[in-house]
Amino acid sequence: MSYQHLKDRSYYEEMYDRHTVERCRWHEDPRPLSDEEKDAREGLTSGQIQWARDLASDWLLFQLVGDRWLQRDKSIDESMERDRQRDAMLARAQKPLMRCPKCSRVMECVYTHINFDIDNSKREWVEFFIACKTCKESKTVHENGQEIPDRPSLCIKCNKTVESSTKKKGSKEYFVDTCKHCGHVEETMSVLDREKKDPTPEEIEKFEYDKKRFCLSSAQGERYKLWVDGMKRMGEEKKEQEANTEYYDKLADVKKINIAGLEKLLKAAIKKTDYVDLHISMQPPDRRIILNFSVRDTQEKRQEYDSRKTLEKIIEKVLEDKNWSLMSEGVSYRLGFLSGRIRGYESEQDLQELTKSRMKKNGKHVKVTNSKSRKYASMLRDDIVL
Ligand SMILES: [Zn+2]
Ligand SMILES: [Zn+2]
Repeated sequence: MSYQHLKDRSYYEEMYDRHTVERCRWHEDPRPLSDEEKDAREGLTSGQIQWARDLASDWLLFQLVGDRWLQRDKSIDESMERDRQRDAMLARAQKPLMRCPKCSRVMECVYTHINFDIDNSKREWVEFFIACKTCKESKTVHENGQEIPDRPSLCIKCNKTVESSTKKKGSKEYFVDTCKHCGHVEETMSVLDREKKDPTPEEIEKFEYDKKRFCLSSAQGERYKLWVDGMKRMGEEKKEQEANTEYYDKLADVKKINIAGLEKLLKAAIKKTDYVDLHISMQPPDRRIILNFSVRDTQEKRQEYDSRKTLEKIIEKVLEDKNWSLMSEGVSYRLGFLSGRIRGYESEQDLQELTKSRMKKNGKHVKVTNSKSRKYASMLRDDIVL
């Protein structure tokens, strides 16, 4: 005999909704202001603090209700899958062949169940309760036959080991723990005999009322989902808008200069760091304007790496707000002769592309979009009646 874990979906749905109602009721329970809350907001009256807290609490409740709806199907699927796996685990489990220590007959398996680790509920294993009814011998074992020692019951008064027995009182069974040390006797009625207290009509009515408020219908849940998606999009848009503002500022700041202007600026800048003989030639023009340039390093001791990096930095500094940029391959170096390519940006579209790529280098992604999601902001939470 073993316990059947998997039940109808309706069972899990009911459990989930009960849990939702309990959690929401806990949220709604009036609680007096704590001393910390009173101290935290100096200058406010108790009424004002209470009002602010109620507002925050309503808001949390609104989200709790919505999030419980969002997670409902997934959570129920997971619980059912967990129980399905437990049943499969029990079906696979092989009863170990154990002999009675008194009469040596094969012991019978009375009950199989799954136990789990208190610290890690995902670690589960099968336990077999086996017995020899003739000799009244029994034990709990693992699938490999290893015995699981009984955890001794302790006296609730003196914490010493007690002797356990059962007794019948009328039609009901009781477990009796008798303590030999302090003489305390504890009687507990078997769970099977405990009368389940049925909820009163008022309790049922209250539950149904709360369930309507806290367990959303599909239509209400879908509205909540739209609201959550809208909020998410608004957050993304805000970030996008901030990046866009910077982008438009930078785009407006780009100074458009021609080749003569560029040559003049570069010559002046490289001279300060001992590069001379700037030569510029233009590649046969196609859609893109690309200039080849070369210079000579007059510092005898400057090594290749330093020479390249110094020149790259100077050029990049000169070009940072101009319509020209150093090509990505950088500067090449041969015995103090340095050369490279600079690209010119001419049309408005080119300048936009240049500004975007400059921002991307600084980790800012610009997406110029027209957004409609702001309309979700106006979706009022009152649509979901609490
Ligand atoms: Zn036996
Ligand atoms: Zn005791």
